[in-house]
Amino acid sequence: MPKKDYYEILGVPRNASDEEIKAAYKRLVKEWHPDKQPEERKKYAEQKFKEIQEAYEVLSDPQKRAMYDKFGYVGEGIPYEYQYTSSGGGFGFEDIFRDFFNDDIFNIFFGDQRTQSRTRTTSRRTPRRGEDIQLDVTVTEREVFTGKSVTIEYERYEACDHCRGEGVEPGSRSVTCSKCHGTGVVREERRTPFGVFINQYTCDVCGGTGTVPGEVCHVCHGTGRVRRRSSLILDIPAGVEDGQVFKLPRRGNAGLYGGEYGDLYVRVHVQRTSGLRREGDDIIVDATVDYVTAILGGKIKVTLPNGELVDVEIPAGTQPNERITVRGKGFPNQRTGRRGNLIVNVNVEIPRRVSKKERELLEEIARLRGVEI
Ligand SMILES: [Zn+2]
Ligand SMILES: [Zn+2]
Repeated sequence: MPKKDYYEILGVPRNASDEEIKAAYKRLVKEWHPDKQPEERKKYAEQKFKEIQEAYEVLSDPQKRAMYDKFGYVGEGIPYEYQYTSSGGGFGFEDIFRDFFNDDIFNIFFGDQRTQSRTRTTSRRTPRRGEDIQLDVTVTEREVFTGKSVTIEYERYEACDHCRGEGVEPGSRSVTCSKCHGTGVVREERRTPFGVFINQYTCDVCGGTGTVPGEVCHVCHGTGRVRRRSSLILDIPAGVEDGQVFKLPRRGNAGLYGGEYGDLYVRVHVQRTSGLRREGDDIIVDATVDYVTAILGGKIKVTLPNGELVDVEIPAGTQPNERITVRGKGFPNQRTGRRGNLIVNVNVEIPRRVSKKERELLEEIARLRGVEI
């Protein structure tokens, strides 16, 4: 068996503390998780992952680590739960990692049939809910008036048709594990120069359950789901607001091992093309009117984003920053469909220069109004 440098694999010094080893291991396990790797790197990552595990299993166990430090190897392959017997009696090492193996990362990993781990304490392929997916769509201001059906195309995991999401090749049944004969434990006795080792470890074939869940589905490689292009039509209602999120239940990723689908969240962005603002269902626009219009009254035209031309009556005597409301010319309400109001914020323009004639007239108005100039 080629000698492996477990310290190097975990990237820790030879005098690393248990905490350092554990931390390095946790970090590497996350980094090399095969599920997180692109397809072409999966194989390599799996191998790397096993190596990391192997290194950790030895270095995290004081006895095994001592043996490794002394002899440069630990047994044949990686036997766990050593029992050293020199006189028939013996003692077993407790599986101090059991808690650690219940870690979430491990559940993800050990639930995965693709990689056989010798140390997993269960081979339960617990169904896991699929991830939610979030997407963004953009609509124009014009479309806010009409609503819009958007065809959304996206990639997601869908339940594998071949195995109905179970990850097990159809027709292949759970069978009693042939290695441990259903006991979940493998016992090997070996004579070495150091004494007789009774090497007892959790069965690496069935993960200690005593049964093998049948052949892994060849389509989804046991995960129960496959990546596919999916599409759906989302009816965005008229009156949609910028940033509004629509939840589409079960349109996210399929779960692992037949777990339920996650949800899809679609966030709608409204592209702003006009200078108008929105307050609830109301449209707010700024309009500049001539001072004469403000005094005498008049009409202005406001174009809405949907192309609608609205005549706005400016009453005589309109003050700067006065708001004029035109009912029913706002955005449609999402629920009732009734339109909000158009609110015109009036800005009165005072000319910076006037013509000679206009000046004469204004001077006359001034006299008339008794305004000193
Ligand atoms: Zn399948
Ligand atoms: Zn077994």
